[in-house]
Amino acid sequence: MKVLVINAGSSSLKYQLYDMTDETVLAKGLVERIGMDSSILTHKPTGKEEVTEVSEILEHTTAIRKVLEKLTDKEHGVLSSVDEIQAVGHRVVHGGETFKGSALVTPEVKAEIRRLFDLAPLHNPPAIMGINAAEVNMPGVPNVVAFDTAFHQTMEEKVYLYPIPKVLYKKHRIRRYGAHGTSHQYVSRVAAEFLNRPIEELKIITCHIGNGASLTAVKGGVSVDTSMGLTPLEGLMMGTRSGDLDPTVVTFVMNKEELSISEVNSMLNKHSGLLAISGSSSDMRDITDGWEAGKPNETLAFEMYEYRLRKYIGAYAAAMNGVDVIVFTAGVGENSAIVREKTCENLSYLGVELDKELNKVRSGEPRRISTPNSKVEILVIPTNEELMIARDTLQIVQESK
Ligand code: AMP
Repeated sequence: MKVLVINAGSSSLKYQLYDMTDETVLAKGLVERIGMDSSILTHKPTGKEEVTEVSEILEHTTAIRKVLEKLTDKEHGVLSSVDEIQAVGHRVVHGGETFKGSALVTPEVKAEIRRLFDLAPLHNPPAIMGINAAEVNMPGVPNVVAFDTAFHQTMEEKVYLYPIPKVLYKKHRIRRYGAHGTSHQYVSRVAAEFLNRPIEELKIITCHIGNGASLTAVKGGVSVDTSMGLTPLEGLMMGTRSGDLDPTVVTFVMNKEELSISEVNSMLNKHSGLLAISGSSSDMRDITDGWEAGKPNETLAFEMYEYRLRKYIGAYAAAMNGVDVIVFTAGVGENSAIVREKTCENLSYLGVELDKELNKVRSGEPRRISTPNSKVEILVIPTNEELMIARDTLQIVQESK
């Protein structure tokens, strides 16, 4: 079965086409600047040259039509006909409390995603545009939605509730939802497979640290706690997001600096984190370069980032009464040997022992970077949210037949 995975943003659309017989990627690409003049389609068929095309793409329906044209193009295509695509999987950011797993798209499912617009005003509307566009371009082909929040729906009430008036939960569903669920689920499963141990027996801390960053405590294969909250702002220090802070900072700053709600939101989401402390960059590569060169602002940014990450690992080891495996994944987690080294250096009280040489090896495969003596297995596992969505899509479509 061939499955197309779509990740639709407000002005962008990423895609990957899978052949699920062997889980290979046949082609992938990206449409950028949808709705602006000169939209850009970048298409990469596996084993062939990447092609870029600039044209006017005003909305997502046209974007998907152009993608399908490329997928079936004589020169750059990988399919003889669009009919070869048997299912489409969509990434959706917020599934609220309704979606505890991926779901087949029905009119009711779409209505529910729309009802959740309030909780993800920037992210859920484009997902609906992506679904509609797929339905128009591929009539009769089943669509499946995979939610970033779904994996965390196993958290207990004592974990997901905030200690604020309960009426706010009852009226507005204010609670911890978490994010990056597809990634946390994927890497925790791969970790168990890699170690050849049943996931039901393992206490795993998954560190998804990229531009956005979150940690999850995975016990027995389910999420028992995660660092992102109502929105992806809570938790770790990130590229441009603050992560945890005293909520009073918000009201205090709004008052003193006469900021509006959108201005303070923008400050915390786009102008904080590594960028704010370094004053130069949100990219961990630049921060590490600055730290190595002895620049004080980059050094402080690096130290704060590592300290906050380590505190969360300690918290989740406490939450699970121990930890068997720590997984590093996403842009920083997969690529930054120095972030992994510095974090693990101060986890010796847990029995963590990093093999510094193994830690420096680069590979796109899951690998162990702890010593044989380490009481905790330290793994680097490349995340693959698209593959996870494609697997869910295949399973749900097959079960629905
Ligand atoms: P992601 O959001 O998972 O795509 O991660 C993107 C982030 O990963 C970038 O903003 C960088 O901060 C970080 N990153 C990528 N490559 C490296 C690297 N070699 N060393 C350190 N950080 C990296």
